[in-house]
Amino acid sequence: MKDPLPSIDLLADAEEVVSRVSALSERDFREARAARLEGVQRALEETETDCLVLSLGADLPWLTGYEAMPLERLTALVVARGTAPVLLVPELEAPRVRPDDELFSLRPWAEGSDPYDTVAQLIGEAGSVAVSDRMWASALLEIQCRRPHARYSAASTLLAGLRGQKDDVELLLLARAAHITDLVAEEILAGDLRLAGREEKVVAADITARLVAQGLQRVNFAIVGSGPNSASPHHEPGTRVISRGDPVVLDFGGVYSLGEEPGYCSDTTRTVVIDQIPEGFVELYHALHVAQAAARREASSAITGAALDAVARDAIEAAGFGRYFIHRTGHGIGLEEHEEPYVASGNRRALGPHAAFSIEPGIYLPGQFGARIEDVCVTGEHHAVSLNRSSRDMAIV
Ligand code: ZN
Ligand code: ZN
Ligand code: ZN
Repeated sequence: MKDPLPSIDLLADAEEVVSRVSALSERDFREARAARLEGVQRALEETETDCLVLSLGADLPWLTGYEAMPLERLTALVVARGTAPVLLVPELEAPRVRPDDELFSLRPWAEGSDPYDTVAQLIGEAGSVAVSDRMWASALLEIQCRRPHARYSAASTLLAGLRGQKDDVELLLLARAAHITDLVAEEILAGDLRLAGREEKVVAADITARLVAQGLQRVNFAIVGSGPNSASPHHEPGTRVISRGDPVVLDFGGVYSLGEEPGYCSDTTRTVVIDQIPEGFVELYHALHVAQAAARREASSAITGAALDAVARDAIEAAGFGRYFIHRTGHGIGLEEHEEPYVASGNRRALGPHAAFSIEPGIYLPGQFGARIEDVCVTGEHHAVSLNRSSRDMAIV
């Protein structure tokens, strides 16, 4: 980019982000992808992997700007170490590919021909082949059948670090997605999106419509859990009518994209109370609020996913709610709603600079009520910023 992000703090400034996103040109996207390909070639070199084969999933659009439809017909990007990538697509899909001669050569395959023979040719005598984690097993089996002697590994081990470190284009799109999503969160917190007296699923449909009206291309989910349903983290909005004294967990997000470029995800959660705070809820919410703020404060490039998870968990445990926090603290976000790095006890790696991930502890008392607060955060060198900016104070609506 001509004008790289001077600081991640800028991502919190909604107006600044709007103006920088609208200034993004096709060239910025192409340059970003070229830099990603260089990173991939370096990773092949460093891990002594001879060949990378991508297919379905987010790795392919990340690298080429092209997203394959989940069809039985094979789409494959073959990146042999030190050579230019070849993108094989079914002939009928070829019109959807935006060619980029500097990045890859496009090879459409005709109906009736065997694309696996071409993949086998491109793999050649490679001893080690990394394949997309999201490639269908049927495709991998065909490839392995033709090249049985290669050693196969998951592409995520090669790419997770690269995709986990967002470039400026990606950070701007993630910030834009978050800010659009915040507009609807703010309507909820201000009482402008009516909850009381309506069914959960009606509220979910209202949230979905507003997110699209504000500028998301697609909504991935809108969780509305009221009263006892707020204690179920992934509650499916149903026919329960939201009423006085209910805590309501609202968790929603979708995809923002610019033109034909692949879109980036948003994800935020706020918990509100209808009219009157039920007994015991203030203590619960206060413990959660403190824990979520502590995790945001401690987030940095140097901390591991496990250590950051422990920050939130320890705070909730100290308040006596430890056994009611039943999921990890967060997940990476980007082209996918859930991707690496995970803010979870099993992740012993440092988050690194320009990682994007959610911080979303929750406390759930079965059969009674629960609460969750979720923001998407981005690490700089020494600190992190939250892309989501709506209020986290307990709101009574
Ligand atoms: Zn979730
Ligand atoms: Zn969420
Ligand atoms: Zn989330």
